[in-house]
Amino acid sequence: MKINELKGRLRGEVITADDAGHAAAHDALIWNGRKPDRQARLIVRAACVEDVQEAVRFAAANGLTVSPRGGGHQFTGIAARADVVVDLGALDALSIDVAARRARIGPAVTNARMASVLGRHGLAFPLGHCGSVPMSGYLLGGGVGWNSGAWGIACFSVLAVEVVLADGRLVTASADENAEIFWAARGAGPKFFGIVTAYHLSLHREPRAILTTVRFYPLEAVDEVATWAERVMSRAPANIEFTTKISAAPPQMPVSGMIVQAISTVFANSEAQARALLDDLGEGAPAGVLHQLDGVPTPFDVLYDLTAKSMPEGHRYAVDSVWSEATYPEVLREVALAMADAPSPESLALVMLRSPVAKRPEDAAFSRIGRIFGAVYGIWQDPAADGQVTAWLRNSIDAIAPLCLGTYVGESDLDRGPRRLAIHSPAAAARIEDLSARFDPEGLFGGPKTKARAA
Ligand SMILES: Cc1cc2nc3c(=O)[nH]c(=O)nc-3n(C[C@H](O)[C@H](O)[C@H](O)COP(=O)(O)OP(=O)(O)OC[C@H]3O[C@@H](n4cnc5c(N)ncnc54)[C@H](O)[C@@H]3O)c2cc1C
Repeated sequence: MKINELKGRLRGEVITADDAGHAAAHDALIWNGRKPDRQARLIVRAACVEDVQEAVRFAAANGLTVSPRGGGHQFTGIAARADVVVDLGALDALSIDVAARRARIGPAVTNARMASVLGRHGLAFPLGHCGSVPMSGYLLGGGVGWNSGAWGIACFSVLAVEVVLADGRLVTASADENAEIFWAARGAGPKFFGIVTAYHLSLHREPRAILTTVRFYPLEAVDEVATWAERVMSRAPANIEFTTKISAAPPQMPVSGMIVQAISTVFANSEAQARALLDDLGEGAPAGVLHQLDGVPTPFDVLYDLTAKSMPEGHRYAVDSVWSEATYPEVLREVALAMADAPSPESLALVMLRSPVAKRPEDAAFSRIGRIFGAVYGIWQDPAADGQVTAWLRNSIDAIAPLCLGTYVGESDLDRGPRRLAIHSPAAAARIEDLSARFDPEGLFGGPKTKARAA
């Protein structure tokens, strides 16, 4: 089949490498301001599931590799690294069965839209921490979302997926039907051997009160903060999300350089319950706070406003993440050392400490987790600093790695290749390989991955 024939069969648009708008369209695929090489010869903007099937069949018939693109939020730009990029941005249908507490959504539905629609029905879902991220790659890699202690890693609230396979067939996979595909769709991430065109989700009741307390400390207090957090979180229920953020002091602070924020967000059934949990958590908190926000109501729209400010679109990002079972002081100390040397003032680190009774993952491709989840974000604007920031990030992760069990694919530095921490357990990695060989024998979705472009 020729490209013109493909164009004739699609409701959506095709952009080829010869089209004038190709460079801009290619760069726009990726959320990170640091764009990957312009590798895609065809960008297929699918308007419907049949377009996805046509694009996959076309690629298979012409020996081309394929990458699905949800929102292009994986920081390494992996979504654009194939001959044919199937852009799923228009597949954003959303329907909710309120009584059954279920939803069927297209992959392009974003966290912020989900939160807003679900909130109108008193429902919720373990949505990711930034509003612009779509469900597409978020759920496929696992999904470390709000209130994941109580609601679990997001992919374990997926009931079924609709998937276009490498031969162009559309299948539904769930625990009862095509169970191996369903197993892989919960955590395989970019190793998945198909394109998810819809997710069926189990929803949760919306918490009546979401309250946040933030304590700001100078960087030197990091050990004290970590020791206190380790103690109080060891008895915390699963509906408390505790994160230490290390970032530059905002201008209104009486200090300069990096500071530590101890952020506790509670998802509770009443305001009284939320306040009681926050009070309990605050017991013995280190003295010397620079500033404190106490039990501020933070519904999802407020949470998303806050996170959007920390991670502005258009900036350049180099990001890596870790799961750890080491002590919180050990991990935070290493992260603080890294942040003290951060080459750009916008950079930040988030280190979450999960409750000991946080929900555990079921058997699925998502197979690495720890009580500590940390992510280091190199954020900058000048392309000339690319080398310096990426080298700093890698040195930082190398220093933390001996304390770690693995990395989380959604925020992993995939460009490190085999030198990075493992994403899957050895058994899960082997099973994903086997399933890929069965469902994608020609390696349609496993094409060569190249390095990020430095421009
Ligand atoms: C600002 C920001 C905040 C974030 N916050 C969080 C957070 O709180 N929690 C969290 O868990 N993650 C978070 N992430 C990471 C994010 O969840 C992942 O990067 C995820 O891949 C984004 O989804 P996407 O559809 O944009 O992925 P893309 O970059 O579009 O795709 C990445 C890869 O995933 C695969 N893929 C994507 N969609 C499909 C599909 N429908 N079918 C088959 N394969 C597919 C493809 O292999 C593709 O190459 C954040 C990222 C950003 C940029």
